[in-house]
Amino acid sequence: MEKLYEGKAKIIYPGPEAGLVRVYFKDDATAFNGQKRASIAGKGVVNNQVSAALFRYLEDQGVPTHFVRQLSEREMLVKKVHIVPLEVIVRNRTAGTFSRRYGVEEGRVLPKPLLEFSYKNDALGDPLIYPEAALALGLLSEAELERIRALALQINTLLKDYFAQRNLELVDFKLEFGRLADGRLVLADEISPDTMRLWEMGTGEKMDKDRFRRDLGGVEEAYQEVLRRVLAGVYTKSDYE
Ligand code: C5P
Repeated sequence: MEKLYEGKAKIIYPGPEAGLVRVYFKDDATAFNGQKRASIAGKGVVNNQVSAALFRYLEDQGVPTHFVRQLSEREMLVKKVHIVPLEVIVRNRTAGTFSRRYGVEEGRVLPKPLLEFSYKNDALGDPLIYPEAALALGLLSEAELERIRALALQINTLLKDYFAQRNLELVDFKLEFGRLADGRLVLADEISPDTMRLWEMGTGEKMDKDRFRRDLGGVEEAYQEVLRRVLAGVYTKSDYE
């Protein structure tokens, strides 16, 4: 079947009708803007199912998303959107590029959740961007920026709680938003151990893509364990069709 788009971790195929597309989750993993590449066995299956469960949970809590339904182990059906070219990062504790940029140790609790924006542009290496610069470049409107801020903070509250119930601390994560044909903003892309930092409560053990980025070993096992805990929760109903 003809591909509409192929990214580092996912392939987009046409959907069964206009306005819908099929997302296929691959096992391919990249880090550091594509400089590090590998395959993580079963990652696509985990990321599809974790994302589907989280999209269902967020929809139930009133957050609009692109999710329609899960189609198979590696595929979901979503509404077609035009992606706002921003990576919206929410941080609860210091880690990753934040720690490197400002020279602070990882794990310091931030006084309140911090929002960061990067310009989605591979050629430029997804640089950090001021919200004002994003407005000046016409990447989104002021109303959209305010809506994205509010949704990102609401999603953080909901996901922190969701993972705390599974003994995992949500350290930080990345979101992407898209516009539907009528202009409405919805949460898009994926939410998975590829796009979140999750630390085991109590020990601080990393249960996410940092195991791959930092060669910590046990990558597949960590992804499987996150999926196991997600499926063990309330939102287990499978809507395979
Ligand atoms: O690397 P950094 O510390 O900025 O990442 C913050 C969070 O955003 C991490 O959870 C990381 O997995 C996620 N992220 C992502 N895609 C990117 C950059 C960051 O999912 N391109």
